[in-house]
Amino acid sequence: MKIIAAIANGPRDPFEIEPCELSAPRAEEVMVRVHACGICHTDLAVKLGHIPVPMPKVLGHEGAGVIEEVGPGVTSFQPGDDVLMSFGSCGECSNCRDGALGYCDQFRAINLFGNRPGGSALRRGGSELGGHFFAQSAFATHAIATTRNIVKVDADLPLELLAPLGCGIQTGMGSVMNVLRPQAGSSIAVFGVGAVGLSAIIAARIVGCSTIVAVDVVPERLRMARELGATHAVSGRADDPVAEIVELTRGGANFSLDTTGVPAAVASSINCLRARGTSAQVAAPPRGTLYAAEASVVVGRGIGIRGVVEGDANPQLFIPRMIGFFRDGRLPLDKFVKTYPLARINEAVDDLESGRVVKPVLTMREIGSTT
Ligand SMILES: [Zn+2]
Ligand SMILES: [Zn+2]
Repeated sequence: MKIIAAIANGPRDPFEIEPCELSAPRAEEVMVRVHACGICHTDLAVKLGHIPVPMPKVLGHEGAGVIEEVGPGVTSFQPGDDVLMSFGSCGECSNCRDGALGYCDQFRAINLFGNRPGGSALRRGGSELGGHFFAQSAFATHAIATTRNIVKVDADLPLELLAPLGCGIQTGMGSVMNVLRPQAGSSIAVFGVGAVGLSAIIAARIVGCSTIVAVDVVPERLRMARELGATHAVSGRADDPVAEIVELTRGGANFSLDTTGVPAAVASSINCLRARGTSAQVAAPPRGTLYAAEASVVVGRGIGIRGVVEGDANPQLFIPRMIGFFRDGRLPLDKFVKTYPLARINEAVDDLESGRVVKPVLTMREIGSTT
């Protein structure tokens, strides 16, 4: 069928809105009419070539919409179901069988390269177009997803606010709630308070951290972090952010999280910890990036350092939990989501890159049915 998609051609070219052909869902797949899709830094990292993926390609991996068609043999979902799309996994490797879906042996192949049995579902002008990014490619009016990476949600929920639960919000909240698991009364420092960092701060408040320090170089983001639960804000441009955090936490934070991938910030996220503290690292900087840590700090303080993908979350379990926090007012997504029609994707990307907007979400309803 004919759809409209935003196509990424390469690092320097803007996204192009163009008609494409989408093939029908196969076994274990569904076709989703996309209502909204968040833009995540991983979309930009791939477009910029930091993660080498062949172009042209349709990106977008925080999609939300309504199932229009199910593939042969699919009985667990039906046309009309509202769904959020998250990352894909194989379901068969040892990590998947352990429930550690973010560490699937096929994670890169399925999510970054969009490998799909039988090839891409997308064509443009008769030639194959890269698709199935994170088993969705949701910068489009329609997407093919799999029964493994969609989560059914109640029809009364606002899809344009909930779309980012599929990646960015899950990464921030999950890193705190599933990995660091701070006890009530403990302290945490969060480096970089974009969508992932703000979600971590919201989670830290929910689990009862008493000292929550936000670190960023953008004053507006620090202001928002304070509004959403940070007890203190430290400028990343301060002379000695680590000393400030150590003072605020009376000797060092119990936990830290870095979302920036900037080596100096990562070093600070380790150096600000007290003895037996743990740091979670969630950023995806360009390949080849090395982090340095002071050995006497890591060893002498018994520091734990943990890399985290997708907040260690199983979306089928964690997305409903986050929706519960949204419903009871503890996850105020409206405070940091800004919507843009799909046709204004390049403006939305500029606003994300400049830090003007925390979480841009593209909406597709303006385009209407193209079938
Ligand atoms: Zn797997
Ligand atoms: Zn993402």
